[in-house]
Amino acid sequence: MLRIALIAHDRMKEQMVQFSIAYEPILEKHKLYATGTTGTKIMENTNLEVKRFLSGPFGGDQEIGALIAKNKMDLVLFFRDPLTSQPHEPDILALLRLADVHNIPVATNMATAEILIRSIDQGDLAWRDSI
Ligand code: PGA
Repeated sequence: MLRIALIAHDRMKEQMVQFSIAYEPILEKHKLYATGTTGTKIMENTNLEVKRFLSGPFGGDQEIGALIAKNKMDLVLFFRDPLTSQPHEPDILALLRLADVHNIPVATNMATAEILIRSIDQGDLAWRDSI
């Protein structure tokens, strides 16, 4: 069982909902975390159980970053909005930097997220279980 963080900026939340519906059978096998509103939307539209952090602009990205720093997160699926500036841009960069520091797989769009989610279902990330 992997620990997966799900984050979607406002204009990407519908995509995240569709993604979590489509991949619910895979996602339900793992421990899910999300920023506040993203987690609420996923739980409203699926039967998935999601541990919610603060909303992104209020520190949710930092909370997920803290788990990465402590080696308590295995995968980040982050649907970023590339066309809208975000007030918490520094937090987003910090989260991505920590993921690189700790060699945690990150998808920043749905196309990559689909590849990662299928690959974890094949056990490609099983090495994280032994860390
Ligand atoms: P949210 O946070 O899920 O609470 O909206 C994500 C973000 O917009 O950074």
